[in-house]
Amino acid sequence: MNLDYALTNATLADRAGRWCIGVAEGKIATVIEGDFLNAQTVWNLDGKVLTAGLVDAHTHLDKALTAESVGDVFAQNGLASAIQAVRQLKSNFTVADVEQRASQALQLSIAAGTTAIRTNVEADAFVELRAVEGLLNVQRSLTHQIDIQLVAFPQEGWFAVPDTLESGASSYVEQALQRGIKVIGGNVNQGLWSSNPEAQVDALFDLALRYDCDLDLHLDNWDGVEAFTLPYVAQKTIEHNYQGRVAVSHIASLAYVSKSQAQAAIELVKNAEISVTVLPTRIKLTRVAELLEAGVNVVCGTDNLRDPFVRYGDADLLKALLLLAQLTGYMANRDLERLWQTISNNAAKMLRLPYGINVGNSADLVVFDAYSISEAILHQATRLAVFKSGQLVAGTMHNKQRSRGAEELGLRLYNSDLISPRRWT
Ligand SMILES: [Zn+2]
Repeated sequence: MNLDYALTNATLADRAGRWCIGVAEGKIATVIEGDFLNAQTVWNLDGKVLTAGLVDAHTHLDKALTAESVGDVFAQNGLASAIQAVRQLKSNFTVADVEQRASQALQLSIAAGTTAIRTNVEADAFVELRAVEGLLNVQRSLTHQIDIQLVAFPQEGWFAVPDTLESGASSYVEQALQRGIKVIGGNVNQGLWSSNPEAQVDALFDLALRYDCDLDLHLDNWDGVEAFTLPYVAQKTIEHNYQGRVAVSHIASLAYVSKSQAQAAIELVKNAEISVTVLPTRIKLTRVAELLEAGVNVVCGTDNLRDPFVRYGDADLLKALLLLAQLTGYMANRDLERLWQTISNNAAKMLRLPYGINVGNSADLVVFDAYSISEAILHQATRLAVFKSGQLVAGTMHNKQRSRGAEELGLRLYNSDLISPRRWT
């Protein structure tokens, strides 16, 4: 078999020893134990960690990088003011402006080693379908650099309720599906909205069944027991045979209900095969340890990126993971390795993507300047190389290649040489 190149002497996340990975026509063509593969171009990793590309399962690219235009409104004046500020911003969004900011944000993601991402896209009376159009364009234009899944997201509430913040986005979300978006979002929060949360969930499932879409709901994002619709979502998932097709994010209120209520709900979530996204942009997390212990598919995402709700962020999943480790108190190597699953295998499972360093999969790969997964997390290791479908798209090596010219530093220059990435750093 003719390989385009080989990465040898790699440490992998899921198996002991040193491994060689051969890439041909954008796919992983061979995976063998040992330190040598015969290819025209060979990159010797010297035991550094090679993983499949990271998967960022929860972001908000449509409003990314807008924080500076509204300042610290959330911190100063609270959630309702931030919601109003976002509405104002969205009313002024253009398709081109959404495209430009989302592309800029995605360059940060790619540089951080993310090769697949899911983003919420708001569709409502304020932004109408301009964010949807912008993100659909970005999805097409960056298809060779990153896989992008879009979620039609009713940030402003599903039903319209006069004299409240709940403004009714249902018809816009349906139009977004008609434009080609394949996942339905939700913003079900009994603490925030006055309309019946179960009626919202019913309406979301109705739409999902009609359009054969997966569901990815912001759910119970509330510090208190007033919002607890999680058991209902799990029941409906089982009732509609939607196991494996539903994700929920935040579920903060699960941390406030009694232990027995929480245990019962977690059992239901497990049986319904619901993925739970935890987002350390929020400091008060849900019961992460109990969910992991029960075998629930727990996923970590980077969430909002410098917008009126969250002023921080650089789209780096490794940074989000370190924060998650700190907030949950996970420190042992085996626990860090377990958390690693939340930005790799678990996230890919939630997005229903083929995944891992296995023959036949797309060569979406990241080389870390570290010798173990725990070291990569604790040291926030430099991404030496990021490959998407076999092409080098980011990493230290990629940057040097761009600044110095491909002849001097490109992969293909090192014909049959065994080169350590250390030489480039
Ligand atoms: Zn979110």
